[in-house]
Amino acid sequence: MIAASDLALLDGFERALINERLHMVYQPKVSLADGSLKRVEALVRWDDPKLGPVPPSRFVPMAERHGLIDLLTNWGLTTSLHQWLEWRAAGLDLEIAFNISALSLQYLDFPDLVERMCRALDVPAERLVLELTEGATQPLVKLMDTLTRFRIKGIGLALDDFGVGYSSLMQLKQLPFTDIKIDRFFVKDLAESNDSRVIVAAIIAMAHGLGLTVTAEGVETEGQLRFLAEAKCDVAQGYLIATPLAPAEMAAWNADWARRWAKFRAA
Ligand code: C2E
Ligand code: MG
Ligand code: MG
Repeated sequence: MIAASDLALLDGFERALINERLHMVYQPKVSLADGSLKRVEALVRWDDPKLGPVPPSRFVPMAERHGLIDLLTNWGLTTSLHQWLEWRAAGLDLEIAFNISALSLQYLDFPDLVERMCRALDVPAERLVLELTEGATQPLVKLMDTLTRFRIKGIGLALDDFGVGYSSLMQLKQLPFTDIKIDRFFVKDLAESNDSRVIVAAIIAMAHGLGLTVTAEGVETEGQLRFLAEAKCDVAQGYLIATPLAPAEMAAWNADWARRWAKFRAA
């Protein structure tokens, strides 16, 4: 039985997907070693004419529940890879991070499909990083074979939202991740909370010990950025650096950020 509220949302979402009324925005991730733009995270947006902007935290789980997630994944990935080509043509060489629902990873041939998409567009597989979050019903350890196939193809794997929810150390030990993303829950109170500082420093040390890179999510203040840079976190992402941007905004943001980073470094 589908709840009435879900039904209206589902109907609107299905029509948006079919009529290409969704769009992607891209949030920059910068290197904390030199401030350079390293990667962008592709994030889906749905602005419904009747409902207004609907957040992905509402419609992604709904797409998962109602069999639309593979359609969303394929549309989002194709859109993002095409965008990568446009940036490359404009001289911006970056990596693209894409959120994959664990449900889309159930099929053993999914890595081949992604590789074919990259090949067809001439996007090097090494430029793609998949961000994975474990949900209650989709334990990632069951996906070992699929994840290993991605790694063999050179595609990166980031464990998203690390430290909250279902993410666990067992996954880090057993699965071939290349990057850990520290959840913004631990970043938001770095200034006030000694506990958060200890936890973040420990995650960074652990990740480096395991040969992984670390990204901090949700960086909103210079104080947080400074702590993370001093703690040797590799990459930072958050509203202080940039909100998710439309593709055309990227070049202007990049120039402005270079100035802001130089000032930050000099202070
Ligand atoms: P996520 O992968 O952890 O993405 C980061 C979320 O944090 C994004 O929310 C981003 O806009 C937000 N964010 C970034 N910087 C800051 C900050 O400094 N402060 C705060 N408070 N928030 C920040 P968004 O775009 O609403 O996405 C929410 C979640 O929805 C994502 O979490 C991801 O799990 C999922 N999602 C988004 N796009 C897709 C998609 O195309 N496919 C799938 N499967 N999931 C998606
Ligand atoms: Mg993510
Ligand atoms: Mg996250």
